[in-house]
Amino acid sequence: MSFAKRMSNIQASATVAAFARAGELKRQGVDLISLVAGEPDFDTPEHIQDAGIEAIRTGKTKYTNPASGIPELKDAICNKFQQDNNLSYAPQQIIVTCGAKQTIFDAIVVLIDEGDEVVIPAPYWTSYADQVRLMGGTPVIVPTAPDRNFCMTARQLQDAISSRTKMVMLNSPCNPTGGVYSHSDLQAIADVIAWAGIYVITDEIYEKLLYDGAQHISIASLIPELMNKTLTVNGVSKAYAMTGWRVGYGAGPQDLIANMIKVQSQETTNTCSISQYAALEALNGPQGCVETMRQAFEKRRNQIVEGLNNLPGFQCRTPQGAFYAFPDVTKLFGASSSWGKIESDIDLCNFLLDEARVACVPGAGFGTSGYLRFSYAASSQDIQEALDRIQTALTQLN
Ligand code: PMP
Ligand code: GLU
Repeated sequence: MSFAKRMSNIQASATVAAFARAGELKRQGVDLISLVAGEPDFDTPEHIQDAGIEAIRTGKTKYTNPASGIPELKDAICNKFQQDNNLSYAPQQIIVTCGAKQTIFDAIVVLIDEGDEVVIPAPYWTSYADQVRLMGGTPVIVPTAPDRNFCMTARQLQDAISSRTKMVMLNSPCNPTGGVYSHSDLQAIADVIAWAGIYVITDEIYEKLLYDGAQHISIASLIPELMNKTLTVNGVSKAYAMTGWRVGYGAGPQDLIANMIKVQSQETTNTCSISQYAALEALNGPQGCVETMRQAFEKRRNQIVEGLNNLPGFQCRTPQGAFYAFPDVTKLFGASSSWGKIESDIDLCNFLLDEARVACVPGAGFGTSGYLRFSYAASSQDIQEALDRIQTALTQLN
């Protein structure tokens, strides 16, 4: 078969691939603890499930009109942005998509031409760079410092901007590091973006999962003129345990959104009608479920960070947001056992899969070798069992 040249520029999503591999092993009967999936292990809260069932029973099972999101949901999203993020958007500035992943992809399709540069701080969520490459753009990767919570500085951003820079992508709280931008760091970054006149996609999907008093700020709220250059991305997957429902959304300047709606009309039409009614209940219904899950994640975060730091060769910072631990494992490089030699995070990930029966994702999948990503959106028992298994497997290494 002869495939389009663009296919040689991208790889399958590292997270989706690792998830599939862990799933396959489990189906084969392997007793595996998987800390791969970036999704809450909780069920979708019952009142949201009920709204989905009600939508089916009342015939909300057709294409939605408009395809870019039912009006009630767009109104709820506008209210959410106003209340939570101090952002004033009108319904025509909103698009509802099949997950936040599609919002981001549609924006890249609309904005990026062959040769355009997109600044992406690393570690980054695995899909950003390949989505840019798929559209012929060039990701300009900016490595961030662990002791700055893996947050890019304004100076780093300024240095990365060239005459070809079209856009920068931000993600706070960050997958995979859990880093959260402080108000002052974000203000400095906003100043650089406004000065350069570039676009920004800000992926805020983990905004509700914050710990230790960390605060979430939407960059578009910091400088009025940024509203014309910012796509603010969010969704219900993480905050409401709704990953499978596939509802994400974006808000931005009306011309950008209109073009994204045009793209969506040619690819998926609308996201699932039933899911849109469930998302409406998620946003308008009682919010206690979000805090209940956040508190559970916080306990598990404390458990996994402490446990990882007690393992030889693991150094783990305490993440301030999201639900991932991202330890530095470089001290283990060079170690060997009858399994073979550990020379990279990919080797260590495979060693842990084979010898500990614990699945995680190598940092390389997020543009940063030398780390592993463990999702702690898993039960405390599974986290403890994973830590015990890793501890035992590591005794093989010398
Ligand atoms: N952004 C980040 C940083 C993520 O981790 C995810 C997880 N899948 C997404 C976007 C997309 O989420 P969804 O498509 O489920 O809304
Ligand atoms: N975002 C999640 C993760 O990072 C889900 C998989 C994906 O869509 O990348 O694991």
